[in-house]
Amino acid sequence: MPSPRRLLATIKTVRVWVVLGVLAPLGMLLVSGFMLYELRREIWARAAETSQNLLQVIETDIVRNVEIMDLALRGMIAKVENPLVATAPESLRQLLLFDRVVTAEGMGVLVLFDEHGHGILNSRFPANAGGTFLDRDYVQVHQRDPEAGLYISKPYQSRMSGAYTVAFSRRVNKPDGSFGGVAVATLKLSHFTQMLAKIGLGPNSAINLIRQDGIRIVRFPYDVRDVGSDVSGASNFQRFIRERDGSFAERANRDGVHRLFTFTQVGELPLILSIGLSTEEIEAGWRAKALMIGVTLLALFGLAVLLALLCGRELRRREAVEAALARLSMTDGLTGLPNRRRFDEALHLALRAASRSDRPVGLLIVDADHFKRFNDRYGHAVGDEILRGLARCLSACIHRPHDLACRIGGEEFGVILPETDAEGAAQVAARLHDEVATLAVASAGLPAGAVTVSIGLAEAAGGSQAELHRAADTALYAAKGAGRNRTCRAEARPLAAPLRLVAASDVAAS
Ligand code: GH3
Ligand code: MG
Ligand code: MG
Repeated sequence: MPSPRRLLATIKTVRVWVVLGVLAPLGMLLVSGFMLYELRREIWARAAETSQNLLQVIETDIVRNVEIMDLALRGMIAKVENPLVATAPESLRQLLLFDRVVTAEGMGVLVLFDEHGHGILNSRFPANAGGTFLDRDYVQVHQRDPEAGLYISKPYQSRMSGAYTVAFSRRVNKPDGSFGGVAVATLKLSHFTQMLAKIGLGPNSAINLIRQDGIRIVRFPYDVRDVGSDVSGASNFQRFIRERDGSFAERANRDGVHRLFTFTQVGELPLILSIGLSTEEIEAGWRAKALMIGVTLLALFGLAVLLALLCGRELRRREAVEAALARLSMTDGLTGLPNRRRFDEALHLALRAASRSDRPVGLLIVDADHFKRFNDRYGHAVGDEILRGLARCLSACIHRPHDLACRIGGEEFGVILPETDAEGAAQVAARLHDEVATLAVASAGLPAGAVTVSIGLAEAAGGSQAELHRAADTALYAAKGAGRNRTCRAEARPLAAPLRLVAASDVAAS
């Protein structure tokens, strides 16, 4: 479990901000996507419900109409088969048989055909009009099959009115049970199309009334080419037959338009009624909305991500600048060595580590000898050159990763040597004297050996940084006093006891 401070530090990093800046709009995008998806599901559910209701209304209408016609047919047959009616004069029979119901709007005619297919009684046209109807399926079916019951014909064009019509028929038996003719009630297809036109379907949606054998009675929107066409081979129709009722979304076999089909068998009749709502019409409103929301969201998302990335870049740039500034604030401009501030900080840390590990820190304070003279004789530029040269010598003498050489004053340097006792520090000091002895400044004609340094050496495994610094300073003072170009060391001391100087013990000379 990371500490709260650590957590805070993590949160502050640029990367985390950038990631959050991208994740937050991404989350928004996901939520919106989910909402659009839900909206689409709702729209589909509503379309299915609407189809289902519509289907029921139309089915009820058809069932009721067929019932009325069947009642008329049964009534007519009962009367025809009555011997009294059979022997009555034709004008009386006409009066007896035909009811006002069948002359209602949309209904066609009620006809009684004899066994030869002649219309012997007709609710609207004269008897025997149109010749023989033996070619009609509704006559043939009953002639062939006494058990055909109520037969729904293929749609056909009426010979009498020219209107496209479907016939509902029942067989009339002679007293001996043989084929005595057919009673027929016809219904104009316009009855359906007028009813369906009131519903207001979209131009790409469709309603079909199909016989169970695949013969289409009528399709809405109406096209005469659909009347009587055989769709028994169409996969969607086969599915209607298989499932009896239900719904599914599929491409239409007729025109390839993708539709939501809702279908049912019409009552107990051998008819299938299907409504196909065009998917595109169902989704039109939703698509427009989804497109608008989607485009807006994507644009906002892109903008947010762009802003997050730009912000990230700006923050990173600022971090880099801050790091560079921090580095600069710790660096000496002339020599490139760490400066006094860095020296103080590093010495403090080194002493803290030393007191924990009980391994001493070695400290060298290095000061150029008679530097003022070089300045006075050769000018400041040469003085600076010498200082840079000394910085190189210092850097060359320290090897461990935690050793640190700093410029802490004008011509004064400090070398911090963690985990190094006085003997180790003395070795570094000796190396430094050797290194400085090779320093020549060509521009001023200064030969190697012209520049020397004095070094004060101290070690401590605790105590304050000021104490250690003072001890090394005192040792440096001693080295200057002893003739310069040498190292003096402060006396080793017990922890926390005041530092005492070993009187100018000349380590470098040994
Ligand atoms: P000693 O051997 O006793 O240390 O004598 P010294 O001349 O080196 O010591 P002093 O402290 O008298 O003189 C130090 C000189 O260093 C004084 C100053 O002009 C010079 N100095 C300090 N900083 C710079 C610098 O950045 N560049 C140059 N060129 N000279 C500097
Ligand atoms: Mg000096
Ligand atoms: Mg000095």
